[in-house]
Amino acid sequence: MKAVLIRKHGGPEVLEIADLPKPKADAGQVLLRVEAAGINHLDTWVRRGMPGVTLPLPMIPGSDAAGVIEEIGMGVTGLQVGDRVFVSPGLSCMRCVECFSGWEPLCKDYKILGEHVSGVQAEFVALPAANVLPLPEGLSFVEAAAFPLVFLTAWHMLVARAQVRVGEDVLVHAGGGGVGTAAIQIARLHGARVITTVGSNDKIGRVKALGADEAINYRTSDFLEEVRRITRKRGVDVVIESVGQETWDRSLRALARGGRLVTCGATSGYQGSTDLRYVFSKGLSILGSTMGGRAELLRLARLIGERRLKPVIDRVLPLQNLAEGHRAMAERSLFGKIIITP
Ligand SMILES: [Zn+2]
Repeated sequence: MKAVLIRKHGGPEVLEIADLPKPKADAGQVLLRVEAAGINHLDTWVRRGMPGVTLPLPMIPGSDAAGVIEEIGMGVTGLQVGDRVFVSPGLSCMRCVECFSGWEPLCKDYKILGEHVSGVQAEFVALPAANVLPLPEGLSFVEAAAFPLVFLTAWHMLVARAQVRVGEDVLVHAGGGGVGTAAIQIARLHGARVITTVGSNDKIGRVKALGADEAINYRTSDFLEEVRRITRKRGVDVVIESVGQETWDRSLRALARGGRLVTCGATSGYQGSTDLRYVFSKGLSILGSTMGGRAELLRLARLIGERRLKPVIDRVLPLQNLAEGHRAMAERSLFGKIIITP
């Protein structure tokens, strides 16, 4: 079978299209015939390598996929050959307090497909049966491969961590990105006013079509000044942060009294400076967030199936053109998700 393989870290050129033996469904597993797989920022980190993290090279990248069950392993119940499913990207022990509380990402054994273990960018992948969930009716494989990781991340940030409420103001950084396009819609669904940043004027209309009330081009305006103008100096109740170093200090200063900043990543660097006076005097909360639990993913699948939330697809590429997708992510020259088809 064809699969993407990373043997060593580096630029997009290290993404090899390899011919590997077709896997089998072991006990407790299913074999998925992949019809569509998503690319995430995580894939570019995995490709480049992360300081202090040893990844299981050679490995297949990819966390998001949808397809058809081809084979059922011993002891698997409730699933059948031919079922249309999407992949839940998180693996955890399902025995500990954190897992049973719906906080699987805090499980000490938590792993993400395509990061800590081999992923899904292949024609076939064998997965634990617990990691495939029924495809919402009416959803295409491409749409189903576009939502799990980014919508789960955005949902957990806004709903579980920030506990966004009706009538609040939310600032979403990088509104044209995967997490951004999800966060705009989820914040709006919860009754918030959404302010978002974009890197070019042609994205303004598109983020507004997703439900953003205000869009700021961060290349031509200072987002902090714009947030102050839009909120009449009050600031926002919630900031959805994924940029890191470049924006951290201004994101904190953009918060209203009692505001919450939720961070899920640091694409521009890890070292954000924090003026502690803002934190204590304004009663701010800084909340970390990574991925989300299965219960949240099931809720999202329902909302997406009902078309109350929509995966945003920038383009669909054949698997052998994966490097083009990685380059587009690096240039931020995309809107929504890039999907590959084996
Ligand atoms: Zn656990």
